[in-house]
Amino acid sequence: MPTTYVYRFSEGDKDQKDLLGGKGANLAEMTRLGLPVPPGFTITTDACRAYLATGEVPEELAVQVTTALREVEAELGRQLGAAEDPLLVSVRSGAKFSMPGMMETVLNIGLNDESVKGLATASQDERFAWDSYRRLIQMFGKTVLDIDGEHFASALEAKKADRGVSLDYELDVEALTELVEEYKAIVREHADIDFPQDPRAQLDMATEAVFRSWNTERAHIYRRREKIPHDLGTAVNVCTMVFGNMGQTSGTGVCFTRDPSTGRSGVYGDYLVNAQGEDVVAGIRNTLSLSDLKTIDPESYKELRAAMRRLETHYRDLCDIEFTIERGKLWLLQTRVGKRTAAAAFRVATQLVDEKLITKDEALTRVTGDQLTQLMFPQFEHTGDNDLITKAMPASPGAAVGRIVFDNAEAVARAEAGEPVILVRRETNPDDLPGMVAAVGVLTARGGKTSHAAVVARGMGKTCVCGADQLEVDAAAKTIRVRGREDLVLTSEDTIAIDGQTGEVFLGEVPVADSPVMTYLRRGLQAALDAAGDVDSRELITSVDRLMRHADAVRRLEVRANADNPDDARHAIHRGAQGVGLCRTEHMFLGERKQFVQNLILAQTPQERESALAALLPLQKGDFVQMFETMNGKPMTVRLIDPPLHEFLPDFTELSVKVALDRERGALDPADEELLAVVRRNHEANPMLGLRGVRLLLTMPGLIELQVRAIAEAAVERLKAGGDPRPEIMIPLIGSVRELQIARERVEAVLAEVSQASGYELDFPVGCMIELPRAAVSADTIAEEADFFSFGTNDLTQTTWGFSRDDVEGTFFKEYLEEGVFGVSPFETIDERGVGRMVELGAERGRRTKPDLKLGVCGEHGGDPESIEFFHRAGLNYVSCSPFRVPVARLEAGRAAVFSSAQD
Ligand code: PEP
Ligand code: MG
Repeated sequence: MPTTYVYRFSEGDKDQKDLLGGKGANLAEMTRLGLPVPPGFTITTDACRAYLATGEVPEELAVQVTTALREVEAELGRQLGAAEDPLLVSVRSGAKFSMPGMMETVLNIGLNDESVKGLATASQDERFAWDSYRRLIQMFGKTVLDIDGEHFASALEAKKADRGVSLDYELDVEALTELVEEYKAIVREHADIDFPQDPRAQLDMATEAVFRSWNTERAHIYRRREKIPHDLGTAVNVCTMVFGNMGQTSGTGVCFTRDPSTGRSGVYGDYLVNAQGEDVVAGIRNTLSLSDLKTIDPESYKELRAAMRRLETHYRDLCDIEFTIERGKLWLLQTRVGKRTAAAAFRVATQLVDEKLITKDEALTRVTGDQLTQLMFPQFEHTGDNDLITKAMPASPGAAVGRIVFDNAEAVARAEAGEPVILVRRETNPDDLPGMVAAVGVLTARGGKTSHAAVVARGMGKTCVCGADQLEVDAAAKTIRVRGREDLVLTSEDTIAIDGQTGEVFLGEVPVADSPVMTYLRRGLQAALDAAGDVDSRELITSVDRLMRHADAVRRLEVRANADNPDDARHAIHRGAQGVGLCRTEHMFLGERKQFVQNLILAQTPQERESALAALLPLQKGDFVQMFETMNGKPMTVRLIDPPLHEFLPDFTELSVKVALDRERGALDPADEELLAVVRRNHEANPMLGLRGVRLLLTMPGLIELQVRAIAEAAVERLKAGGDPRPEIMIPLIGSVRELQIARERVEAVLAEVSQASGYELDFPVGCMIELPRAAVSADTIAEEADFFSFGTNDLTQTTWGFSRDDVEGTFFKEYLEEGVFGVSPFETIDERGVGRMVELGAERGRRTKPDLKLGVCGEHGGDPESIEFFHRAGLNYVSCSPFRVPVARLEAGRAAVFSSAQD
């Protein structure tokens, strides 16, 4: 049996997108439904792939095209390119995934020196016939024969100038016949052949050109960006031409079964009288609305409305449809499930549930976490006269307006005084965290979408624009110069506005508004409905609420938040978090407390050490009391200290310089010299792979005991007050079971001590992070000592790939993304085949030892939609993400549950 390369529209269906492409599959479906589709056939992606593999069109294809074409001819009683009443066809590309404008289309195939006259007679419109012919030669020349389109365009311009007209359609028959001859001459000159007069040769050559267009550079670039595989190939649709430009009873339009921008129910569309397809999209003339069509051509309108209803019922979703009316006869040329805005997605999904066209589960598959994110960001209200100073990388969405600040202390101080500020830095580093927290937005002159500023800002849901290299930020002088605007020097007195969706940076105020969905998430349904200004917003809020509640009802993954302070914890709870999955405790050692840690590191005697620890204990205990109070009754995973030791010490270079200068001046403080010796001793070439996490805990006497005592005593205090603290103690950076064993013994010893002293039973779970490949691989043994695992996918990504996030994102990631080494940064979306395997392995081996082992994830990926689906499939119990992303995680966890039950 030869391969079937050609399917009549009457043979395929909508589920055959792999073979027939999206357009071909939907044309077939419409034909099957009995809707008025011009007859035609689809050449499969198999044929394209065969051509791409061998460089030759399969011989069998030509045979099958003949049969299909003759059937179309027989159905219509006309022949391709015949001298009388010729059949004309269009040849259009159509891949599985829509690639708008990336590949080629050739219309009016079948016209030649004879059939053009036949078309003129049949249409009783000579001008139309010659215009169609010249368009064919132009399109064919450009697309099939690779002639520079400029040659045709300039001949057309010259002809209009010669005739003294400015618009194409003002050229008369005589001008068009001349133009046809000129176009033929261009073909002869540049392609070295005569324009083919044989209609079948035209068809075959156009088909081959569509195959070839799969591999143009722009198609490659588009696919890379959209993550469409390069080996799919495109189908080719050969369809009888129908004309919307045959006078006042003809026209062409696009319509939607619901409004794709607001999501309002009720049809929506544009129509152009006496026009061809491209004219509608090109916006050349003012379009009419569908209700105008109702007046102009009630019969076609009625038929179109019936078709729209039929299609929406059939696809059970919003459809968009391209149609043409040829002399009062309606034809449907294309349909697909329509693209829509985030707001429309939520509204349409719930409308369809109410109309009983889809179930609530299906509604969840129609919206995404990314769409919810879009609905959560505040937006600028553009007035048109804003002063745009530069445009850079949109790194974290939102709209922020504030005065410029250049350093952390100033950011914190001014923010505390109630002033909205934007932190502007050349680039940020972990020390900038307080400033980033205090600021309403972050702007950096260096770094890309995965730079520190971008990642941290996204995690916090804070607006961020990165890599604004037109800006020269001088933090010492507190000025910003703008390249190309020499007159402009910005200082901390200036207000700027940054748009994290577009990367635009404006000078001065631009008004911002909280989105209705954000109001809902912050203040609840009723408050948001009360505050909503219009029906659209109210319907949107209700839709989001309904879908969120359904997601909560069906999801299997719990959603926790990463929160280190009561404010974040409160936000997280408001947004539906079921606990804290990661409370990082490093901030408990920073700021003013850094001195105590230094004292601890420098301690020479047990007394010195004891006094440093004793100073830290009440401070940390106080932090935990607050957190337990906020999280009352909900689990809270407390991670013991993680960062490298050097973060608690002064900078090596700075201190070296200070000591050298002081020595020269004869004013050297011996304490500084001593400190420098310690800093030098602890200096590491790769601190991320050095003395941190459990290694620090095991080697710094008293550290574990301090933290666990603070947790335990805080818990006792809460218990005494009638509270319900639920800490889970987590040890970071475990590589071997022995590390966990030692740590655990020490944790339990302190718990037992405080328990005994207080009389309260403190039986808190003790678990560990799995963030090193060794931990994942030996998870079966580590599980013997662990009550739970939490996958630290940030470090696991670093250590599985062997690259340091802080370094690589700003260096070679851009090239790697461009070259397709990864489609998206593995720090954003879990790298399923590498890091993901580590997670699966760790989960599976851990549960081999303890079938009920509780498994979570607390890396950045815990809030990433695609990764959440993966974690669901991997069988984890919960994801933990930044408070801002909790709603997204809830929705995505619900979707993951629906998708996986659909596959069972
Ligand atoms: C992780 O490594 O994934 C993690 C959550 O820890 P951190 O980002 O604090 O290293
Ligand atoms: Mg980590």
